[in-house]
Amino acid sequence: MVKKIVIMGGGLGGMASALRLRSKGYEVTVVERCHALGGRAQVYHHDGYQHDAGPTVITAPHLFESLWTLFDQQMSDDVTMHALSPWYQFIFKDGSSFDYGGEVEDTLAAIKAFNPDDVNGYLNLLKESKKLYDVGFTKLADQPFHQFKFLIKQVPSMLKLGCHRSVWQWVCQHLKDDRLRRAFSIQPLLVGGNPMNTTCIYGLIHYLERAHGIHFPKGGMGGLIKGLTNLMHRVGIETITNATVTKLNIRNHHISSIVVNEHTNIRGDYFVSNLDPLHLYRSLIPRKNQNRAVRLKTKHTHISMGLFVIYFGTKIKYPNVKHHTILFGETYEQLLNDIFSKLKLNKDISIYLHRPTATDPSLAPHGHDGFYALVPVPNLLSNIDWSQTGEELKKHTLQILEQRLLPELSKHLTHCFYKTPNDFKDDYLSEYGAGFSIAPRFTQSAWFRFHNKAEGLDNLFLCGAGTHPGAGLPGVLSSAKIVTKLVEESDLVDA
Ligand SMILES: Cc1cc2nc3c(=O)[nH]c(=O)nc-3n(C[C@H](O)[C@H](O)[C@H](O)COP(=O)(O)OP(=O)(O)OC[C@H]3O[C@@H](n4cnc5c(N)ncnc54)[C@H](O)[C@@H]3O)c2cc1C
Repeated sequence: MVKKIVIMGGGLGGMASALRLRSKGYEVTVVERCHALGGRAQVYHHDGYQHDAGPTVITAPHLFESLWTLFDQQMSDDVTMHALSPWYQFIFKDGSSFDYGGEVEDTLAAIKAFNPDDVNGYLNLLKESKKLYDVGFTKLADQPFHQFKFLIKQVPSMLKLGCHRSVWQWVCQHLKDDRLRRAFSIQPLLVGGNPMNTTCIYGLIHYLERAHGIHFPKGGMGGLIKGLTNLMHRVGIETITNATVTKLNIRNHHISSIVVNEHTNIRGDYFVSNLDPLHLYRSLIPRKNQNRAVRLKTKHTHISMGLFVIYFGTKIKYPNVKHHTILFGETYEQLLNDIFSKLKLNKDISIYLHRPTATDPSLAPHGHDGFYALVPVPNLLSNIDWSQTGEELKKHTLQILEQRLLPELSKHLTHCFYKTPNDFKDDYLSEYGAGFSIAPRFTQSAWFRFHNKAEGLDNLFLCGAGTHPGAGLPGVLSSAKIVTKLVEESDLVDA
């Protein structure tokens, strides 16, 4: 008899797990709390504008393509990907800017023009990043890490790569220019970590970008989510939206069914959680079904930072603004320390500005631009009152953008709304309103992260940002591969 798998949460980890498990012949149902699939990649429509709510940078498009090839279908029939150039423009407080992307030669020429002393250092950084990538991404990202002995086997290669160093320490060993050090150390922020204490294994992101480029789908991330949702429906995956899992029915360490919206039972043979693991273990799994390691993890975890995101449109175009711009403030180390350790909001902010209409003008009315501005902020462990601070930070951020990048913005603004860490908590049940679940520290990576196979329950598996290998699209898509492997192994044992 065909076994049924219920996936709780329809983020990209849940969607990819659904497709992978469906391709193995299982009957699959996805249950999602929001009105549409995609998780943090929701889409907001406003008067002819389409704003992607979350991820915007696609670094490993082959991981998406492989979801179509599982069914002998072509991603290009549903989604068109554009390769971007440059990948990012970094703008510093002294007015200088640095375009990053293209071929290695382009980056070397840009570094030479910026600070020739760092050309050789960059080549060494790239060489080391490849080594980190070969181990951290190619070899380990899609391997289950729930067994301690597997971790022990990896220790020598981790030590050889110097993974005890932070990304910041690693970058500083290679580059001298403070601005370039900032530009090449921001990668942990893309997955919720502080570059000052995130293990340099995440330096692999640098080579990941180099190896596969940076891409953006036609129709924005919303276009990609639509394509994936269509594929899921074509191959017979059932999706239920506006449905929050409120209880797990557990007997003898086995889940028999879940309760949705407090009244509907959905039965299954195996269950996959794409929820924030902290929410899963704190609110849905009784303590008696948790082992000591899980209890410790849920109690002593470092949470990623929060995000403040402003979505807005302008009735003119700003053709000189690139698709991805990072606008650095004056301070870096102190700003990161305030966000991650002191849980304090700093006036001197750094901003990531997304201008998707640079690549796909159809995302705004003709002659207009659509934007989002993202500001890393403390998570809800701080005592910031977002009902008041939200409006202040919105004004402050728009002012900075007007002064440094978007002249006369206030005159051309068509609309503007924002999302605070409170919204991340309410919309996605993300504990402490975290942007990226738990932080990617060395002590919260691999075996130390929430395992892809739940302890204490024999038919529950975990995918998504809070589990191994971690947040970001390549991470959550890789977690779907792991979950599929683990479900199949369990099924063989159960048969
Ligand atoms: C603003 C922003 C920008 C980002 N930019 C990038 C980027 O450019 N590139 C990149 O690679 N990564 C980026 N990321 C990170 C990336 O988006 C995430 O790591 C990834 O999308 C997380 O996917 P996920 O599958 O873990 O879960 P999520 O997207 O968090 O989905 C989990 C789903 O579970 C649902 N859920 C929760 N509780 C329940 C419940 N009880 N019942 C039913 N459903 C429930 C939630 O509603 C949610 O839809 C960004 C993140 C944010 C927030």
